[in-house]
Amino acid sequence: MAKVYVIGHKSPDTDSIVSAIAYANFKGKIDVDDEYIPARAGEINSETKYVLERFNVPVPELLTNAEGKNLILVDHNEMGQVVDGADKARIFEIIDHHKIGDIQTSAPILFHAEPVGSTGTIVADFYFYHKIPLSKEMASILLAAILSDTVIFKSPTTTEKDKQIAEKLNEIAGLDIEKFGMEVKSAKSDIKGKTANELIMSDFKEFEKDGYKYGVCQVEVVRYDEAEARKDEILKELEAVGASKGERLAVFMLTNIIDESTKLWFVGDEEVIRKAFKKEPVNNEVFLPGVMSRKLQVVPPIHEAIG
Ligand code: MG
Ligand code: MG
Ligand code: MG
Repeated sequence: MAKVYVIGHKSPDTDSIVSAIAYANFKGKIDVDDEYIPARAGEINSETKYVLERFNVPVPELLTNAEGKNLILVDHNEMGQVVDGADKARIFEIIDHHKIGDIQTSAPILFHAEPVGSTGTIVADFYFYHKIPLSKEMASILLAAILSDTVIFKSPTTTEKDKQIAEKLNEIAGLDIEKFGMEVKSAKSDIKGKTANELIMSDFKEFEKDGYKYGVCQVEVVRYDEAEARKDEILKELEAVGASKGERLAVFMLTNIIDESTKLWFVGDEEVIRKAFKKEPVNNEVFLPGVMSRKLQVVPPIHEAIG
């Protein structure tokens, strides 16, 4: 009986945590010979805490070093985002909805990537496809993961499949989807009482292109003014975080989910920002109407503009 940890990315978001829980549960049902343990690569954020507490689902165990362990990765496939020690672990599977990154394995694995709005969509689809019954709790947290990652279906990453799977999950969960979505999102959008470092690290992702390292964090708010009042403090901290990770560019996406726009703050390589967004930065900022998705609207143009 092998022990396999199912784990999402560092700075875990709701999709990463819920996908680990739900996929570990799913694997445990279709493979009774092995033990599948949901795990997390960092502290959970306030949104995830709200979701797990509301449905009485335990927080996955913290894995700080994966060396020598058996892993299934969910919701990421970049070395910069993976749990420490993963380079000395055995990766059995990857289930993800991001661009194909730089993780390499020594043996063949199951790699399931789909361009949908959340990993939760993919995991829920596995349950439906294999006719594995979903508990009300599991259906509810999977629905939360979809609503979180797609910003209640407003993000351009949203697909028809996300909406269909959400409807199917809600036949079990029995929630008011729109209202539930706002409850989930507003559990995270409170920035009061968080230090600049906590804001940055709560959803920070690292990327690399030909040795050029950059980081992009995203904070979702329902109004701009509270964060704007702290812009200097946040930029200063962003600079320190970027420097500590050897990054040439560090980006802070302040995304307004009501307004459906992003104020992109940055420190470092201004030329890349100018080239990526075809806008002249003012005070380390470019305003991006309609931009809500890091992986679809911010990382690809930056990636393209480098080099
Ligand atoms: Mg994620
Ligand atoms: Mg995701
Ligand atoms: Mg996300």
